[in-house]
Amino acid sequence: MSDVSMEKIISLAKRRGFIYQGSEIYGGLAGTWDFGPLGIELKNNIKQLWWRMFVQGRDDMYGVDAAILMNPEVWKASGHVEGFSDPLVECKKCKRRFRADHVGEKCPECGGEFGEVRQFNMMFQTQIGATEGSVSYLRPETAGGIFVNFKNVVDSFHPKLPFGIGQIGKAFRNEIAPRDFIFRVRELEQMEIEYFVRPENWEESFEMWRQNVHAFNEAVGINRDAVYELEVADGDRAHYSKRTIDFEFDFPFGRKELYGLAYRTDFDLKAHQTGSSQNLEFQDDVANDKLVPHVIEPSFGVERTILALLTSVYTEDELGGEPRVYLKFNKAVAPVKAAVFPLLKNKPELVAKARAVYDMLKKDIPQIMWDDNGNIGKRYRRQDEIGTPYCVTIDFDTLGENPDLLDTVTIRDRDTGEQERISIADLKARVA
Ligand code: ATP
Repeated sequence: MSDVSMEKIISLAKRRGFIYQGSEIYGGLAGTWDFGPLGIELKNNIKQLWWRMFVQGRDDMYGVDAAILMNPEVWKASGHVEGFSDPLVECKKCKRRFRADHVGEKCPECGGEFGEVRQFNMMFQTQIGATEGSVSYLRPETAGGIFVNFKNVVDSFHPKLPFGIGQIGKAFRNEIAPRDFIFRVRELEQMEIEYFVRPENWEESFEMWRQNVHAFNEAVGINRDAVYELEVADGDRAHYSKRTIDFEFDFPFGRKELYGLAYRTDFDLKAHQTGSSQNLEFQDDVANDKLVPHVIEPSFGVERTILALLTSVYTEDELGGEPRVYLKFNKAVAPVKAAVFPLLKNKPELVAKARAVYDMLKKDIPQIMWDDNGNIGKRYRRQDEIGTPYCVTIDFDTLGENPDLLDTVTIRDRDTGEQERISIADLKARVA
C-alpha cells in the first residue's frame, strides 16, 4: 500500500484547482467529479500522451470518436443488457445497498442482516426522442463504438492484420458504491484499443500490449514499483477470454485494478455480426483467406491513471530547513511547464520585462503561468504544490544592473530547489 494518505491528495487536488466534487454547491452528486483549471490540463496531457503513443505514433492504428448514445441493439449483442451487472445486497434493517463482493456477512453501517443477493445492471438508461419506450443507454465502455466501426475503418483504409482502433471518451456506469475519490466513479473516461489479429498470432500481440502498458505508465510517471500484474485465473475470467491480466496499483486504500488487458477471441465481432446481420469477416490478402479477426483489448481508465499518478508524484521533504509538499510531475504531464515572476510587482520595468519573457515562452509553450503574488518564497511553494518543474525570475540583473548579467534570468529547479542563471535566449529549450 502507498504511504501517501488519500486526505492529503484530495485536499491538495481541491485547494490547488485540480479536482472538485461534482455539483459541490448543491451538496454534490455521488460518483461525479469536476476537473478544475489544472486538472483539465493534466488530464489533457495524459490523453495526448496516450493518443500520440498508441494512435498517431503507429502506422497500424486508427483513431475514432464514436457517439456516446448508440443503438440499444449494440448492447444487447455485446451482452451488456443481459449481463453487465454487479451483485447487490440490501440491508434489511437500514435499507442501505452494497456491492455483495465488497462487504462481509453483516451491514457495515448498522450490523443488520442482508437480504438475497441480486444482480444490478450498471448501465444508465435514457429515453431517445419523444417516443415513449425508446430506451437507450449511455455507453458503459468505449469499446462498443470501436466494434461497430470495424467495417467502416476496414472499408476506408484497407489495413492489414494485425491492426488496431483506438478511442478516448466518456463512459458511464451506475456503480452501486462509488468511492475512493476518482477511483470508482459513475462518469468516467476510458482510453481503449481493440487490436485485431489472426487467431494463431494472438500471443505476440498480447505480449506487445503487455509491454506497452508498462511503457505508458513510465511515460506518464507512474511508479513502476507499485504496479503489479495479476494473471486472472481460468474461473474468474469472462467465458470468452483466453487470457486476461489486471494491472494493479498500490493505491493509498490498497492494491486495486488500474488497467485491464484481455484476449477476447472473436467473441465481440461475432456477436455484432449476429446482432447486426452484417458480414464482419475480414478478407486477408496476405494469407488469402477470410476470417473474423480475434481481438486483444488494452483498456485504460483516465481517472485511475490520474489517481495513480498523483499517488506516485506526491512528495513531502524539507527544503532550506522548511517542510514542503511538491508534485514530482515529469515535464510531459505537468499542467504548468514553467512559472514566470517579476521579482517585485511594483517595479514597472521589472514587470514589463517579465511580461515579455512570459509572452515569448507562452507563444510556443502554452502551459506557462504568470505569478506576481506574495514574496518569491510563497510563489515557489505554490508552484511546487502544483508540480511546476521550473520557476523563472526576472530581477534587476536581467535589466542590466550588473551589465554582465543583462538578459539573463534565474531558473529554479523544483526538485532540488537550486537556482541557476541562464540567458533568456536559452530558456525555451530548457523549459520545453
Ligand atoms: P472494477 O473491477 O474495478 O470495477 P472493471 O474490471 O469493471 O473494474 P473494466 O470493465 O475492465 O473495469 O474497465 C476498464 C478500465 O476502465 C478499468 O481498468 C479502469 O481503469 C476503468 N474503470 C472501470 N470502471 C471504472 C469506474 N467506475 N471508475 C473509474 N474507472 C473505471
